[in-house]
Amino acid sequence: IVIGMIAGILVGSFFQWLMPDGSDLVFNLYLFEISVKGLFVDGILEVIGQIFMASLRMLVVPLVFVSLVCGVCSLKDTSKLGRIGGKAIALYLATTAIAISFAIFIALIIGPGEGVNMPTSSSFTSREAPSLAQVIIQMFPTNPFASFAQGNMLQVIVFALLFGIAIALSGKAGERVAAMFDDLSEVIMRLVAILMNIAPYGVFALLASLFTTVSIETFGKLIVYFLVVLFVLILHATITYSVILKLLTGLNPLIFLKKMRDAAIFAFSTASSNATIPVTLETATRKMGVKNSIASFTVPLGATINMDGTAIMQGVATVFIAQVFSQDLTLADYLAVVLTATLASIGTAGVPGVGLIMLAMVLEQVGLPVEGIALIIGVDRLLDMTRTAVNVTGDSMVSIVVAKSEQQFDNDMYLDEQAGHTIE
Ligand code: ASP
Repeated sequence: IVIGMIAGILVGSFFQWLMPDGSDLVFNLYLFEISVKGLFVDGILEVIGQIFMASLRMLVVPLVFVSLVCGVCSLKDTSKLGRIGGKAIALYLATTAIAISFAIFIALIIGPGEGVNMPTSSSFTSREAPSLAQVIIQMFPTNPFASFAQGNMLQVIVFALLFGIAIALSGKAGERVAAMFDDLSEVIMRLVAILMNIAPYGVFALLASLFTTVSIETFGKLIVYFLVVLFVLILHATITYSVILKLLTGLNPLIFLKKMRDAAIFAFSTASSNATIPVTLETATRKMGVKNSIASFTVPLGATINMDGTAIMQGVATVFIAQVFSQDLTLADYLAVVLTATLASIGTAGVPGVGLIMLAMVLEQVGLPVEGIALIIGVDRLLDMTRTAVNVTGDSMVSIVVAKSEQQFDNDMYLDEQAGHTIE
């Protein structure tokens, strides 16, 4: 997977160098005209990349539903659910608040937008932020099949929890259904493992086709903004998570970061925490030692409500936009930014680019021009990829903390370097 990632970036950048700004190279081969762009970039790479992405997304809903039902059944005492959910949500919100405060703090010191003059003619239309009450109401499905079909994760989670609780309370019939779900879960995990085998090619194709369009020149005046976001993302993923993990569980954070690598690369190439759920879940349960009873709940929940990386982008972007438009924000404004960004993360799904929509809500909250988003959109794709990797790292870290506190954690698996590498 690592080789796929590096090769993808190199090949994509090579095409970008060969055919800058969407130009094409056409060869005449006897009677045929061969377009390099048409054949390799829009053809082979795009097709393989999109098929890979579709297969990952195909697994998300069935996997989350089946493994969460199994998770609830295996808890035996379903009254623990409330406690587990409470811990996970509290940790998710706390890490997001830390992430954005950290981002604002560093951005204020560095000042990425100071002295930057940019034309602000471009426009960006924002979407209205849903109220917290709306978000909570919308978590409850009226038709679970519609939730499945739309891939509405929070609704799938709620339905799976209720279904699992009902199974646990249904005596003999419940036991039979639970046994069937256990088998189903085994089969779906196998499907994930099969997909992991072709992952290096998928990652290669996704990154190669993406990097044909990323050119260094577009960074221009945004380079400082870009680097500040990147710097805080790396710092948060390595330092903050390590400190929290060490303090709350006593586990060695280096092992955690090493085992996170594959899932982080998946998140990086797909820019979607949702599409990465199968890999995050596999990493948590088969490499880190988190029992399915916890991971099946905390991982999909985290993919939806926990977005530390996204919050970091929002923090830096707010400071950047305020500086470009020469507007001073007060401490109260910054607190409002922290609060809005943290709450906005609850109702928004982990799919590519959603961070910018959340940013619009944050900017509106403190009276900054939403058009400011148009300024940073040019470099957002690469940041989106990186922050998604941070988002899923956060989901896994919190899963470990919750699992450890509930004694649903396999220490030996965590320490075993080879864990998870044996599935074919
Ligand atoms: N792409 C991110 C995710 O899926 C969300 C975002 O920051 O846009 O987690």
